[in-house]
Parts: sequence; structure tokens; C-alpha cells
Amino acid sequence: MPRFPAPVASRLPRVGTTIFTVMSRLAAEHGAVNLSQGYPDFGASPRLFDLVAKHMHAGSNQYAPMAGAAPLREALAAKAEATFGTRYDPEHEITVTAGGTQAIYTAVTALVRPGDEVIVLEPVYDSYVPAIELAGGVVVRARLRPPAWRPDWEAVRRLVTPRTRLVMVNSPHNPTGSAWEAADLAALAALTRGTSIVVVSDEVYEHIVFDGRRHESCARHPELAERSVVVGSFGKTFHVTGWKVGWALAPRELMAEFRKVHQFVVFTVNTPVQLALAEYLAEPARYLELPAFYQAKRDLFRAGLAATRFRALPCAGTYFQLASYEAIGDEPDTALAERLTRQAGVASIPVSAFYEAPPAGPEGRLLRFCFAKEAATLSRALERLARV
Ligand code: GLN
Repeated sequence: MPRFPAPVASRLPRVGTTIFTVMSRLAAEHGAVNLSQGYPDFGASPRLFDLVAKHMHAGSNQYAPMAGAAPLREALAAKAEATFGTRYDPEHEITVTAGGTQAIYTAVTALVRPGDEVIVLEPVYDSYVPAIELAGGVVVRARLRPPAWRPDWEAVRRLVTPRTRLVMVNSPHNPTGSAWEAADLAALAALTRGTSIVVVSDEVYEHIVFDGRRHESCARHPELAERSVVVGSFGKTFHVTGWKVGWALAPRELMAEFRKVHQFVVFTVNTPVQLALAEYLAEPARYLELPAFYQAKRDLFRAGLAATRFRALPCAGTYFQLASYEAIGDEPDTALAERLTRQAGVASIPVSAFYEAPPAGPEGRLLRFCFAKEAATLSRALERLARV
């Protein structure tokens, strides 16, 4: 086995392996029900698979255009116009990416220069901070607070300086399951008005919102649309997280910079899947049915949690449910998540993984459970959690 003969000066000295990989591995080792990493345990539509096969057999197996297959960019433009009322030009304002994470990484790399400040809201999805640090940016943190977890816009405003380059936002929000209201868009628009700040808006759970809510997209707000890179994901929407296909919408000036980086990160995304998704998008019902589909799972999981010592926090969107374990004890969430996986046979994600320093108080006693699972899987997990 070859060994590198010198110390390696790491670009990311404080980063280990992502919590999602760590917990999924631990779940597999212990045969636990895996409610940690966010992915469905049920199949996607056979129609979608047939479409991929059709395009492969038809010979669409060479590079797609760098920005994405034209039919898919056109389908995404139609979808954005129908859902947000905003027209994005497929030629210059839409790029297909290898998943949401790549779109976020690419946006940050394209826009953040060394010393630029980037505001993030903690708990923050684990890929944002490393992307900022690799670009030489300075991470500036604001806190979201339970139970609503919506931004305290006055506190965010106090963090804005002439060096602020980006604000990174995420609604519906991973891990908290909170979702923005129209007032949040208005507040962010007011806060950035007259500045050159860009918003990177991670909206990969856009179609998973509950109780009749409307997804409040930065693409829906005319002023924010002018300064936002809006990120979406087919993995979340069509139950194919392993396909790693997403997209970014942005005004032409920003998208030109995004594509300069995109072409050297992945160049382009696999062709037959893009063409299949373009056809599949033709029926909006395929994504419009998602709120009802996931709301039933949320309700089933929350009803089951009520019979345990875990206390469910409100869940307005995403396929994640936060649960407080204050009634069980005060061990650190990482220790409890590991113990539950080994002993109770249920894997979850400790919410401290989304903070720079583990939070004190009630925010530090939370686990995240993914309910994108068959009813039988959720029932099995709930039976086990009831014994904890
Ligand atoms: N977004 C998924 C989650 O929050 C994980 C994706 C990943 O494993 N990188 O669980």
C-alpha cells in the first residue's frame, strides 16, 4: 500500500466525513432502521426508468451541452414560470447540475473571492461552510431559533458589512423542517436592497411543504429573483437521490460566472437522464402531488412519536422531523444518536452536526429523523423508539 511520504497540509483541516455517511454506515453495521441520511426507501416511477432506457437505446449517450440538455432547460423554464411566475431564459439563465450540492458549491466558488464575507444561518447544511472556506471566504453566522426556526432578520441585518458577498438561505429547511413565509422574502429583499449582495437559495425541498403552504421561493419575489441563484433537485422531487441531478436558476450576469466554474467541475451532466427528466416534467401533477404524499408520512411519523418519550417539533416542510429528547436525558446528541443506532436499532442525525459549536440548551437536545420511508419502515422504527 503506497504511503504519502510527508505531512499533508489540509485545505479543510477541521472537516471529517459527513455525518450522513457516518450514520448510514453505522446503521448498516448494526442492522438499524436508517432514518438518518435523507433518502426515500421506496421506488421511483417505472415510467421514469422507461424514459431513461428509451433515450439510452436511442443513442443519446454522448455529452450533453455544457449548460444542460436543451429540452430539460426548456422544461425547467416552463416549470419555474408556472410555479413562480418568473421567466428564466433557458439559453442563459438555467444550468443543469450534478445535484443540488454541486450547484451550491459551484455558486459559492464562482462568486466568493478571498476575504469576502458570507452569511449563513445555523443550523446550516453541512456542505455550505466547507465550500465557503475553500473559496477563501469568511463565514459569518446567524442563529435560527426553535420552535419556528425562521430568520431573525434584524440580527442578520447587523451582520451585513461592505464585505458581505453572499447570503446563503434554505427553505424548506434542512434539518429543522421549517419553511419561510412571504414576510421572510420581503425582509431579505429589504436587507439586500441597494447592495451587490447575491443570495444563494437552496430550495431543493420546494415541493415538500405541508398544511396548504405555498413554497416561498426567491424566484417568486421580483427583487430577489434579480440577485438570487436558486437551486433545485430532481433527487428530492422524483425520489431518485442517487441520480444526482439538480439545477440552478439565476440572472444572466450571475449565471455566466456560474457556468465558468460549472464547466470545469463536472462539465456536463449525464445525457439520457436529462432527456428523460425533460419528458417526465411535462406532467406537473408528478411534482404537485408531493405535498399530500409526504404529509401523510409526516403525520404517521408524528402520531407514532407521540407514543414515545421523544417530542416532535413543528414540521412545515422537507422530509425531516426534529424531535427533542429532553425527557430521555441530557447526553450529547451525537452520543444518543450512536447509542440509539446500536442499542435501539434506529439511526438518526444529531442536529449539532449543523453547527460550528454544539448549541447549549434545548437546541442541543435534538435528533433529526427522515420520514421519506415506507409506512412499514416508519412503523418498525416507531416500535423501537417507543421502547427507548
Ligand atoms: N441531504 C441529505 C440529508 O440531509 C444527505 C445528502 C448526503 O448524504 N450528502 O440527509
